[in-house]
Amino acid sequence: MTAPDETLDVALRSWVDDAQAPGADFPIQNLPFGVFRHDYEERPRVGIAIGTHVLDCLAAVRAGMFDALSPPVRDALQSWSLNALMALGRDDARAVRRVASRLLRDDTDDGRSAHAMRDVLLVRMDRVGMLVPAEIGDYTDFYASVFHATNVGALFRPDQPLLPNYKYVPIGYHGRASSVVASGAPVRRPHGQRRPDPNAPPVFGPSAGLDYELEVAVWVCGESTIGETVPIARAADRMFGLSLLNDWSARDVQSWEYQPLGPFLAKNFLTTVSPWVVTIDALAPFRAPAFERPAGDPAPLPYLNDAADQAHGGFDITLEVWLSSTAMREQGMAPVRLSSGNLRTMYWTFAQMLAHHASGGCNLRPGDLLGSGTVSGPEKSSRGCLLELTTRGAEPLTLPTGETRAFLADGDEVILKGWCARDGAARIGFGDCRGIVRAAQ
Ligand code: MN
Repeated sequence: MTAPDETLDVALRSWVDDAQAPGADFPIQNLPFGVFRHDYEERPRVGIAIGTHVLDCLAAVRAGMFDALSPPVRDALQSWSLNALMALGRDDARAVRRVASRLLRDDTDDGRSAHAMRDVLLVRMDRVGMLVPAEIGDYTDFYASVFHATNVGALFRPDQPLLPNYKYVPIGYHGRASSVVASGAPVRRPHGQRRPDPNAPPVFGPSAGLDYELEVAVWVCGESTIGETVPIARAADRMFGLSLLNDWSARDVQSWEYQPLGPFLAKNFLTTVSPWVVTIDALAPFRAPAFERPAGDPAPLPYLNDAADQAHGGFDITLEVWLSSTAMREQGMAPVRLSSGNLRTMYWTFAQMLAHHASGGCNLRPGDLLGSGTVSGPEKSSRGCLLELTTRGAEPLTLPTGETRAFLADGDEVILKGWCARDGAARIGFGDCRGIVRAAQ
């Protein structure tokens, strides 16, 4: 293990007052990276979240605040996406984090200098637009919750819910990078081919089974070439940070199209990510053992089995889904929580997913995005999509207005939240990952 990291000290305070607010997602111990746009300028800029504000990295470099960093790192901070910083890798991102922490502390000379330049360096979050933080070359979505896989399998294949490969192979599919959007972008209900009557031909029209999927995604850093693998013991070096991800899914389209090659149009119309990338360094206090496989389950094959990964390859992240309907908002009602789970319950770790992804020689590039798959735990209250919560629509949910939901209705807003908390560490959060369903075109 490495030496204690001073940026994680629970006693640190920022001169940005609301960074210390109870329940704040972005205290000085978090410092996630993102890409934002000022309301007066087209050019995107790299930023670091602090309280309800953004540290403008371009402005900070120009002001000499990052002079302690090497020229390539300073160049990356003046870029218009995180790809350049992701290309440099974990160590350089950690160096930025150390300098930013000192700049934002209330008890350092650097902090006092930065505080004096607050109007140049900081911008309020509600005055900027957040963008997808990296240009995503490739997006892959896994299926790492055994509870989700079992629940969904039981709905689609009651005789054989969990296929025999599940406990050996981290199952995934290649998703669509071009339709990954940042939190807040509208969610247009997709059209698709489906077969509501199994004894009649399929029809084409707006999906009647629109669903969300509660997921966490890892942003890849560093570059590997075609033919090169990533040994499981090195996989953590290729993980830059995590964001929340909503893999919007049209269940009626999915159930008709998925065999034999897996999801296609049912999932490629839109995927929403939370715009702040919480670094693996910020998550260090919240590492957890890999999922404890029940007696009788096979051990991971050697290329997916690493002692350090088994000991702390998991993440203790509480994950929640909230929903508000148009009627709820009109009546002034707060969103209602639909479920609460934890990333710890995933059968596969991100390191296993990443090592597996590269194990056949597929290159992984900075800015690639790997989704975890729907995060569902063993309890019904932790099921991470409506397909599971409503048993494919057979047991609709009732909202506080008395409205019912088998699947999402037009006007519904889905909000994913994620946060980490434990004694001896500062609570950190991911910010929202939200989207409102709009009527089909
Ligand atoms: Mn998914």
